[in-house]
Amino acid sequence: MSKKFCPKCGKETEKFYENLCKDCFLEKISFLDKIPDKIIIKKCKFCNKFFYDGKGFDSLEDAIGDMLAKILEENKIQSINYRIHENKVSLTLNFQVEDLEKVEEKECLLVVKSITCNSCSLKSLGYHQSILQVRAPENLLEKISQDIENFVEFFRSYDALSFISKVEKQKNGFDFYIGSKKVASQIANNLKRKYKAKVKISRKLAGKIKGKKVYRDTLLISVSG
Ligand SMILES: [Zn+2]
Ligand SMILES: [Zn+2]
Repeated sequence: MSKKFCPKCGKETEKFYENLCKDCFLEKISFLDKIPDKIIIKKCKFCNKFFYDGKGFDSLEDAIGDMLAKILEENKIQSINYRIHENKVSLTLNFQVEDLEKVEEKECLLVVKSITCNSCSLKSLGYHQSILQVRAPENLLEKISQDIENFVEFFRSYDALSFISKVEKQKNGFDFYIGSKKVASQIANNLKRKYKAKVKISRKLAGKIKGKKVYRDTLLISVSG
């Protein structure tokens, strides 16, 4: 039986991968150029949310994890482990080609840019789609206000407009100016159930945006003692 040699390194080899020995073949394959040298993540200085590729995240780890998950999927890499330390991200890539395995490592520069996110800038401009007019006995007001704040905070993960842009003290309660119409109506439903509140909705034309009529909802929520 004649001996076979790798045409690239000259090493004697039995199994060939695209006409090369396994070392020369693996050397050819690399995903390091798919990983950016510099990872830029934005962080809102008001709500502390992180942003990458237009998506919001609660932590830096989540933002980087999501970014790497995309690279993983697009390149059929089995796994990427990463560690964040100060302004660097250390990555370890594991992947399989045919019956071979390869591990590659890379260190990227991490840049966190301070921004004001869209929600926070809208909030600061007093933007609101709905007004929640909460009217309740004095002893319940604080609890209901806390509930509303919790709801808004909770929905923030699903709806970028989930924020309170203004709170006004009224005679028997508070007016909450809510960024998102959907969130405001969810809150109204919750209060309806929890406090057996009566909800009355009125809709007012607030103007036109790009020729489309824009309505602003006012939800009167009455809780009796
Ligand atoms: Zn070789
Ligand atoms: Zn923000």
